[in-house]
Amino acid sequence: MIAQDYARVKDYLNKTKLKSLDYVINPYVGCPHKCLYCYASYMSSFSKHTEGWGDFIDVKCTNKKINVFKIKNKKVMISTVTDPYNSFESEFGVTRKILEQLVKSEALISVVTKSDLVLRDIDLFKQMKHVEVGVSISMLDEVIKSKLEPNSPSIVQRIETLKVLKSEGIKTVCYISPIIPGITDFEKIIEVTKDFVDKYVFDKLDLRSSFKTKMFNFIKHERKDLIPLYDAIYIKKASDYFEKTADVITNYCNKNNIKYNINYRS
Ligand code: SF4
Repeated sequence: MIAQDYARVKDYLNKTKLKSLDYVINPYVGCPHKCLYCYASYMSSFSKHTEGWGDFIDVKCTNKKINVFKIKNKKVMISTVTDPYNSFESEFGVTRKILEQLVKSEALISVVTKSDLVLRDIDLFKQMKHVEVGVSISMLDEVIKSKLEPNSPSIVQRIETLKVLKSEGIKTVCYISPIIPGITDFEKIIEVTKDFVDKYVFDKLDLRSSFKTKMFNFIKHERKDLIPLYDAIYIKKASDYFEKTADVITNYCNKNNIKYNINYRS
């Protein structure tokens, strides 16, 4: 059972210091997908809930209209610290109401989700001047997915979602993000999605605070063979794993004419 409340906010639009973005829109505080590695769990401190990350959701509300002139030619991401198509969206529709306001804007809009609910809003994406819709996939194995991203839609559903978006003429992005050391096989993900993905975005798994503990527990119980690698990267900080991976990604994508962006290197 997920605790639910409302959060009144001044504006859905928030300026961000995140690299390569100008604004972010997070329609909810909290995310029921409950990914073990979720860096957004620090958002718990912005909520009155005492429940842990993944066990509460605040539905944002405001009467303020989004100032579409302010975001002309600006990069706006929906979302960075929640999934805008989490299961509560089918009931509350906050993301859809926000997109309705953005339809005529000239912002450069990126949407990212793990959910096929995004297909509901194809009619709005089709009216937008600049929009790309991304689905994140860090692994193909459904069993590992069910342990690392317990409440999120299956990988099969996500792949199907990308296919449908592309067939409807929407620009598609596959976020191989985060790259989970020893688990993410980016080449395999590209192989099964490249026919309907326009661009790939990569980011690395950063681990700190409580989600570092959760990931280390997962590795200890499920993938003991990876303990030395995780120790080297996250404890001793003596590994260039992500730099080497970025080189491999660069070579692979250039050789195969794949459009890509490695966020942690740009
Ligand atoms: S979908 Fe994204 S925001 Fe939601 S729990 Fe997973 S990583 Fe966090």
